Amino acid sequence: MGTVFSGLSALVVEDVADGGDAVVILARTRVPCPVCGTPTAKVHGEHRRTVRDVPVDGRQVVDHLRVRRLACPALGCRLQTFREQIPGLLERHQRRTVRLAGQISQMARELRGRAAARLAGLLAVPVPGVRRCAICGACRRRSRRSRG
Ligand SMILES: [Zn+2]
Repeated sequence: MGTVFSGLSALVVEDVADGGDAVVILARTRVPCPVCGTPTAKVHGEHRRTVRDVPVDGRQVVDHLRVRRLACPALGCRLQTFREQIPGLLERHQRRTVRLAGQISQMARELRGRAAARLAGLLAVPVPGVRRCAICGACRRRSRRSRG
C-alpha cells in the first residue's frame, strides 16, 4: 500500500475501500508538536476532513482524514494544544491535496480552457464545480466579459 500511496507517507493509512467511481482512503495524521517536536498521543479532540487527491488507476481518489487536536506533554512548551497540520500534502481550508492542485494548475497553464477540462476528465482528475472549460482563469474572465 505504501508504494501505491507514497504521496501519503506523512499519514497512517488505515483502510483503502472501493467507493464505486472513486478509491476511498481512510487515514489519520501523525505529527509531533510543531514547536518543540515532542511526539504525543494525548488527543484533545478530532475532526474529519475529506479531500480530493490525485487519481489512481484512472479513478478519482477521496481521502477521509482524521485530524486530531493534540496536547503537548512537554512542560516548557508554549503550545498547550495544537491541531495537526500536514505541510506539503494539505493546506488549511483546502479541499484538494497540494499535489492535485498542482496537477490541475499545470494542466490549466499548459492547455487552457476546454482542452484542459477534457484532459482532466480523461485522467479522472477531479475539478470541482467545473461544468465547461472553467478550470483556467482566462475562460472564466472571457465568460464574465461576454455576460456583462
Ligand atoms: Zn511542544
